[in-house]
Amino acid sequence: MIDNHDLVFAIAERAKQYLLDPPSGEDPVVDLASPDELIAAFDSTVGLALAADGSEPNHDNAELLAAIDLVVRHSMHTSHPRFVNQNFAGPDPVAVAGDWLGAALNTTGATFEVAPVFTLMEAAVIDRLARLAGYVSTDSELLPALPSGLFCPGGSVGTLFGLQLARHRHDRDITTRGPSGERLTVFVSASGHYAATKSAALMGIGTDNVVKVPCHFDGSIDVAELAEAIRQCMTTGGTPLAVIATSGTTVTSAFDDLHGVADVCKQHGIWMHVDGCYGGSSLFSPAQAHRLSGVERSDSFVWNLHKMMGMTQQCTALLVKQPEQLAACFATRADYLFQPDKQFAEYDSGDRTFQCARRIDVLKAWLAWKTHGDEGFAARIDHAVAMGTHTRHAIAARGDRFVTVVDGDFTNVVFVWVPPELRPLSTTDPAALPIDKRDALHLLPPAIKARMQRDGTAMIGFQPVHGMNTFRMICMNSTLRASDIDAILDAIERYGADAVGGSAESMGSTPDSSLPPQR
Ligand SMILES: *Cc1c(COP(=O)(O)O)cnc(C)c1O
Repeated sequence: MIDNHDLVFAIAERAKQYLLDPPSGEDPVVDLASPDELIAAFDSTVGLALAADGSEPNHDNAELLAAIDLVVRHSMHTSHPRFVNQNFAGPDPVAVAGDWLGAALNTTGATFEVAPVFTLMEAAVIDRLARLAGYVSTDSELLPALPSGLFCPGGSVGTLFGLQLARHRHDRDITTRGPSGERLTVFVSASGHYAATKSAALMGIGTDNVVKVPCHFDGSIDVAELAEAIRQCMTTGGTPLAVIATSGTTVTSAFDDLHGVADVCKQHGIWMHVDGCYGGSSLFSPAQAHRLSGVERSDSFVWNLHKMMGMTQQCTALLVKQPEQLAACFATRADYLFQPDKQFAEYDSGDRTFQCARRIDVLKAWLAWKTHGDEGFAARIDHAVAMGTHTRHAIAARGDRFVTVVDGDFTNVVFVWVPPELRPLSTTDPAALPIDKRDALHLLPPAIKARMQRDGTAMIGFQPVHGMNTFRMICMNSTLRASDIDAILDAIERYGADAVGGSAESMGSTPDSSLPPQR
């Protein structure tokens, strides 16, 4: 029997309602509360903290459901079409259902005996991903004897594992003997993800030995600079270990020239890892797959399905060109779990990774893929790119009121709103702007965003690009429509006018009637 049966069903019902009818349109994206306000709100139900003296009672269902309502109300509504804050957004409901079923079945992906279906399912999904990436030839229908990778807990971990594999190939004894004293060096573009730095810290490579290679203006790696950085490393006694190429950078969604990187890696025998956490899903779209041309020449490739594909976090595939390297690098042969004389032991994936228990993240990905089909997956990517294109056009149509700072052609658009007294901007390059103008523009995105959050109008991120704060519209949210993009730009204009002109009282009050209404 299930304890607390009614409570479980009531919470599941709330989640179901939320999933099928999430906030949208003029509903707030966020019900902003300070930490103190949140604590006070929970104090009227079961409290947020657990009694420090060990006197926490078992609360009744009514109190618990009131607390659950607060959880939903004050959480970020990432499914809202005006949530363009990050490179993930609300989930595909099919993936949530898959996650629930997986949680209900609560097992680990480590061994075939406790995950018979999921072991085969993971091999099947990994195989399709590997074929999309060109890791496995599409000539044969047969699954290879060893899957070309596995699911791992997130893109950062995938990059850590990729670097671990690189180091193991370079120096097999390092796992037993420890570091040799060689100065191993990792190369990643200056726009690459910080997982490279964190991995180097964790692995004992040292963050000083992560070389941030200069980029082109759009955020893609400058391959000539990469070749030069590698040459410098070697002439100063370092050993180039790995290059991390990025397919879809976090800020500008730029794609590195993978063939260019692969040529450099091949010349020196360096491991090539592709961080496709964000943009890897382009491979699902025949119209966008060209962005990853050359990925088939890499040694490892990490791909987050919880970003563009809307899988619940986390859902990350690590593909490995020579999959036998996984066991060589990670296996410890624990005899209580991976008994070689157990039936079907050869299917066990657990000794091919660092993890012991492993979430069966594959179930939701498999279910979503089978539900939407290849065409549905492609349509999702094409919609995101189309929304990026709409954003660029909408910004251009607003004349000198907006400026696109980094003009890519994928899903992310990096831009600023320009207040009347600074129009027209003489250049779109922040570094070339007069310092006083740049400083004035730099202050605006945080001020505008704070007003937006207070009203719950939209959620859009900002970050310094070339030394100046800029907005970043990330068009991967599958519920985003052109009208939402227009509404977000309208709101930025409204709050911007408020921020430069407004007294404290007028901040974000009623919209200025001279500006276009929110659609
Ligand atoms: C999100 C992201 C990562 C990190 O992935 P996590 O799953 O959040 O650890 C790495 N690289 C890029 C380019 C990303 O966008």
